[in-house]
Parts: sequence; C-alpha cells; structure tokens
Amino acid sequence: FNVPVPKNEPVLSYEPGSEERKKLKEAIAEARSKKIEIPMYIGSEEVRTENKVNIAPPHDHQHVLGTYNLGNASHVQTAIDAALEAKEKWTNLSWEHRASIFLKAADLIAGPYRAKINAATMLAQSKSAYQAEIDSACELADFLRFNVGYMTEIYQQQPESAAGIWNRVEQRPLEGFVFALTPFNFTAIAGNLPAAPAMMGNTVVWKPSNTQIYSANVIMEIFKAAGVPDGVINLIYVDGPTAGDVIFNHPDFAGIHFTGSTGVFQHIWKTIGENIHKYKSYPRIVGETGGKDFIVAHKSADARELATAIVRGAFEYQGQKCSAASRAYIPTNLWDDVKKYIQEDVKSINMGGVEDFTNFFNAVIDEKSFDKIVNYIEEAKKSDSVEVIAGGDYDKSQGYFIQPTVLLSSDPEYVTMCEEIFGPVITIYVYDENKYEETLTLVDSTSPYALTGAIFSRDRYAIEFGAKKLTNAAGNFYINDKPTGAVVGQQPFGGGRASGTNDKAGSMINLLRWVSPRTIKETF
Ligand code: GLU
Repeated sequence: FNVPVPKNEPVLSYEPGSEERKKLKEAIAEARSKKIEIPMYIGSEEVRTENKVNIAPPHDHQHVLGTYNLGNASHVQTAIDAALEAKEKWTNLSWEHRASIFLKAADLIAGPYRAKINAATMLAQSKSAYQAEIDSACELADFLRFNVGYMTEIYQQQPESAAGIWNRVEQRPLEGFVFALTPFNFTAIAGNLPAAPAMMGNTVVWKPSNTQIYSANVIMEIFKAAGVPDGVINLIYVDGPTAGDVIFNHPDFAGIHFTGSTGVFQHIWKTIGENIHKYKSYPRIVGETGGKDFIVAHKSADARELATAIVRGAFEYQGQKCSAASRAYIPTNLWDDVKKYIQEDVKSINMGGVEDFTNFFNAVIDEKSFDKIVNYIEEAKKSDSVEVIAGGDYDKSQGYFIQPTVLLSSDPEYVTMCEEIFGPVITIYVYDENKYEETLTLVDSTSPYALTGAIFSRDRYAIEFGAKKLTNAAGNFYINDKPTGAVVGQQPFGGGRASGTNDKAGSMINLLRWVSPRTIKETF
C-alpha cells in the first residue's frame, strides 16, 4: 500500500547563530510575554469555568504563563457524551482519511509548530532545548508517523481463504470511548496516548497531568489544525478522583491508555475490576508505570563510557524519565576511575532556567515532587550506610532546583536502591568484582519494576550471561549504552512487572489493543 515510509524526524541542534535557535528563542520570548487562558475542549466547545488555576515555569515559579480552567464531574460527563456522539462518523471514516489527518499533524509538529511546542514544553515542564526537541518535536512526530505505518499493516492483514470460502477480518474500534490519562514528563507521550486509539477509529476523553496542560493545549491546537474532527479527542482538566468516578462507572468505558505512577495504575485496575459487571465489554487496560532502572557493569567495562552513561542516564531531564538510571552496580576494580569521572562530570553540569541554552540541567516539576526528592536525600545523609559523593544540595526560592545527586550505598537494599524517586538521584553499590553472578541476582530481585536497564562489558560471554540472567528485569535492555532515550521505530518502549503492561508505545502491539477484530467467514 502506498503510504509514506516513516522516517525518524531529524533532531535539530540549535547551534548559536542558527535559524532554528532564533525561532525557538522568539517563541520562548513570546510565550513568556503573554498570559494565555486555556479552555477545555469538549465536542465543538471551548469550555471555561469559574476556577482558573495558574501555570508557572517550575524553574521560575513566580512568573505566570497563563491559567487553565479547572472542570468538575459534569465536564467529564459532557466529554464522554461528546466522544460517544462523535463515534459513529469517525469510525465510518475510512482509515486512510484518519491516517492522513495524523500524518498532517506530524508535519505540522515538525514544521510550523515546532518552535511553539518546544517552547511550551521547555517553559512549563522545565526541559532544556535539546530534551524538548527530542520529545515534543521528534518523538511526537515519530509516534504519529510510525503508528500510521503500523496501522496500514494492521488494516491490510487478512487470513487465508479457500475454494468456496472467503475469510475476512474486520478491525473494529472498541465499543464505547477510550480514556487517555497522560503524564507530565513527555509531551510526546501525552500526545500519543489519545492519538493512538483515535487513529484506530476510537473517540477519546483525554485528561493530562495538571503540570502538562500548557503543552497539551498546543497539541490540541495542532490536532485541530490537522483536521481531527470535534468530539474525537476531548481534552479536560479535572482532578483524578473526580474524573475516575465518572469514567470508571460508565457502561461505555472501553479502555484506558495510561502513563503515570504504579500506585495510580494499580488503583485504577482495582476500580475497573470492582465495576466490571457495569461495562458492555471488558475494558482494555494499557499502562506504562514506574521504573527503578539499573546500570550494571562487569569488571571488563570501560570506566569512561560507564561514567558518561551514569551521568546522562540519571540526570537528563532531572531524572524525571521513567527510564532514568537510578541504581548502578560497579565492580571494585573500576570504582576509583568511575567515581573520579562522575564527580568531574557532575561538577561541569550547568543548572538553571531553560531560557539559557547552556543549562543542561533545570528544575524538577513542582513543589510536591521537590519535597519528596529532598526527603530521600536528607534521609540518605543521616544513614550510616550512605555517602553523598556528588550534589546533595537544593533550593526552591526561585525554582525547584535540586543538584544532580550521586549516593554511594554499602547496603544494596538501601531504600534508594529499591524505590522509585523520579528525580535527579542515583545510588551506587560497589560490588566485589568476582561476584558478578550474585550481583546480577541482586539487580533482578531488589526492585519490583522492570522498565529499562543497561549492562556494560567488553566481554561477550559476560554480556550474554547477564542478558540471560536479567531476562525479565527490563522491557528495554541496553548493552553498553545508557538506559534512556528510546527512539520510536527503533527501540519500541515499555516494561513488565510493576512497570506496566508492556504494550510498547509506538508499535503494532499497542495499536492492536485499540481494535476488536471481527472474523467473517463467507461460503459461496
Ligand atoms: N521513552 C523514554 C526514554 O526512553 C522514556 C519514557 C518515559 O519516561 O515514560 O527515555
């Protein structure tokens, strides 16, 4: 079938003096100079309420970028009604037409809206220019383009037929509406979670994290400009329990596409279970949740490469990636060198606002998150088994800044080796270089999560041995590379155990969750 072959959107470098840098700086200045008011988008309506909530940059929390309109239970109900009303026409639109809308959205992101969506992600989620570029420009465009490619394959796969028999499979969308509940840490994920089910003919109620509404608004503007019809994606801002109460009690609830915390996901799963008799169909539950992602080195690893992976893997986007390295296991023979390199690298990291492009490191998302991370650091300082070897300071007077922090623990089961922190803290355990196998067992058993992990070694036997021992410890497994930065179409992303249902974001597996095939047999 003749659809454009998807290619990854090239990452722009924003070199000083470049045209793209100029445009991005202008978009940032423009966004900072305005105070926008963001409505909910329900059916054909822009909905405003009495409840206006301020949006501020996490690195500059006294500056107001705008407000959003906080809704209540009645808005959730109206959004469901709008989704159900839009369903028939959208489902009956041929998939080629749905595909072309999302291909156009991808082109708008990569082209005319690139600076605007990156500026929004930088300002309201405190992402550096590079981190915003790989997320809100490249990854979001990639999700849409690659998913259109997978969708094309899905709609064309047909079973065998025989003489006198014609077998067909009809890929029906789910019966009802889909709920997309999306995180702050990737604008691309926030856009993909409603778009993927919509592509497959579903209509969606989308509730973003309240710390991502500013860039969600730009995504919605792009979807509208690309021709997503009214009611196909309905964007609402309501607190979680209120939304859940209406959605999970509704008979037409057909599925949830979720990225967020393990606790919330488990609560949702339980609620769905308790309400299961109320629904017309068994809802599809697709979720990517937490991580406690590891780096484990064999004694043959290169100390310099390892230190770079630890620093980049742990501290890009302030460690707020589900994939971020947050525990590392280093053999005794490498430790002195690795420690020296890590301390040098951490010292050279510039921390500050996103408007200064030389800052690699910015603020964490909000005060709640800041307090939680600081608490882990303060507890670690008090512990006899832990030493702070880099960072450890913090300051929230202007923005929620926490230094990139490296802890060394003599206890491999110390709390920061096991629990997800979701911030710029990595804990290192140095193991006897002759105890590689025991250490792999430890890596596999200390955390309930299994999202990403990395192994470093120059010894092919050690790599193979480690990869086998850690078969179920990560859904994305890296050999001699940091465990972050999965690229759509190259490393389909997702994990198992407490990290989610592993329905790989941006993949055919994922899109297949949003259809319910009807098999048709006709005899002549
Ligand atoms: N896909 C991202 C990466 O590989 C992480 C996604 C997430 O944090 O949920 O770094």
